[in-house]
Amino acid sequence: MKAELLTIGNELLIGHTVNTNAAYLGRALASVGVLVRRAVTVGDERDEIVAALEEAWRRADVLVTTGGLGPTHDDITKKAVAEFCGVELEFHPEIMQKVREAFARRNMEMPAPNEDQAWLPKGAILIDNPIGTAVGFHFRRDGKHCFVLPGVPSEMRHMTDAYVVPTLREFSGGLVFRRRVLRTTGIAESALYELLGEPREVESRGVKVAFLPQFAGVDIALSVGPLDAATAEKLLDEAEAWFRQRVGKWIYGRDDQKLEEVVAELFFKTGKTVATAESCTGGLLANRLTDVSGSSNYFDRGVVTYSNASKMQILGVREETLARHGAVSEQTAREMAEGVRRISGTDFGVSTTGIAGPTGGTPEKPVGLVYIGFAGPDGSYVEKHQFRKDRLENKFRATQAALAVLWRELGKIVREER
Ligand code: ATP
Ligand code: MG
Repeated sequence: MKAELLTIGNELLIGHTVNTNAAYLGRALASVGVLVRRAVTVGDERDEIVAALEEAWRRADVLVTTGGLGPTHDDITKKAVAEFCGVELEFHPEIMQKVREAFARRNMEMPAPNEDQAWLPKGAILIDNPIGTAVGFHFRRDGKHCFVLPGVPSEMRHMTDAYVVPTLREFSGGLVFRRRVLRTTGIAESALYELLGEPREVESRGVKVAFLPQFAGVDIALSVGPLDAATAEKLLDEAEAWFRQRVGKWIYGRDDQKLEEVVAELFFKTGKTVATAESCTGGLLANRLTDVSGSSNYFDRGVVTYSNASKMQILGVREETLARHGAVSEQTAREMAEGVRRISGTDFGVSTTGIAGPTGGTPEKPVGLVYIGFAGPDGSYVEKHQFRKDRLENKFRATQAALAVLWRELGKIVREER
């Protein structure tokens, strides 16, 4: 089944509202084997809405609209749909009653414009909206489905999950689209591509592959469908194995998994502990490590040593090191990692020092230069990275690089223990 989306609203066109409804619907429909082929946005103009409905109806088996269902003057979707269907609006006392009750529960008198909400195009099936007052509706024509949903994202999501998805599941014959994301770190998109080439072997079996650069790594997205769920999973498993065989050493997780979560699992497995000494990341590394429940089992402390004085006082970085090489240097990163490991008595110490930007760069030490220090029982080392210009992105990238160091070190220990 082919679906189209029609999102309605002037604010979407001028970029004041980000069209998250379309993204949500695309995923929700795919989960029941209905692929969205086209998503169109129009403003709050009756003629535009009618024209867009007519056009989409020629191509699609399923049409979903969002927006313009409320009680204000700019909410004209219902009238446009009635015109498109060639039917009148019909008064539904039971809807009126519900809206009245919703206001009563909030100790409010129902404003007169809300009466408009009780009118639906003749023949439409009401879609209940227990969390708001705008009603949605569904109609079938020529064997096709049209779902008309409100614009408010929470209400739209609720009605999609409770009504649209189950309804479509019945009509799609149990087929699904499935997607799996393999998350990598430490390798650039172009390097991945160089190693893998065009993954024809995988694609020839019906798995679509996309490389999606994120700001601290590349996601490899695999998608299949429409298929029955078991075949879809099998194809994804085979494709995942193909990628793991070739670039597995950079794949840290799947789907929405975060690097700090993967690192946490490895800490739980190995029983090792860590302390952090941060400069350019300002505590973000400690923050990410402690985003994971149970992190107190492996995270001892994090210090933010932003000034030279604090690096010396707290971590014991030598004055001579700072004077000779500067705060942003391999030597300082190493002494920071060793220092924090020493004062806390943990298995590992990790440090960050760099130039987050956008100011403060020099030809020798440009914005985005970051050193990650690691100290462990077998000694210490430093990684040098050259990130980009954006301060917040650089801070995040630096923490991703530091977590990746922990991920690799812990991975080694897990493999040795096996
Ligand atoms: P209401 O009863 O609140 O008026 P409605 O169905 O008329 O509901 P709109 O007026 O079109 O919906 O939009 C209500 C709010 O929902 C907008 O202010 C906007 O913040 C949000 N919204 C609308 N469409 C979208 C969309 N496609 N993606 C994300 N948010 C949206
Ligand atoms: Mg509105």
